[in-house]
Amino acid sequence: MTTRRVLLDWRTTGSVGDAQPCVLCGQPALCRSPRGKPCHKTCAEAWHTARPDLPR
Ligand SMILES: [Zn+2]
Repeated sequence: MTTRRVLLDWRTTGSVGDAQPCVLCGQPALCRSPRGKPCHKTCAEAWHTARPDLPR
């Protein structure tokens, strides 16, 4: 069984701001999730990959 890796497209929904701690890993992140939280895109993709049932 293979795990399908989730890829997020934040080109239109996300944004970039000042470096703030990523909500997932705590390292400084410039990206903002569509909900405005500082978060690495790679961290968010790993998070969604682990939770395929939740909305993106
Ligand atoms: Zn992160």
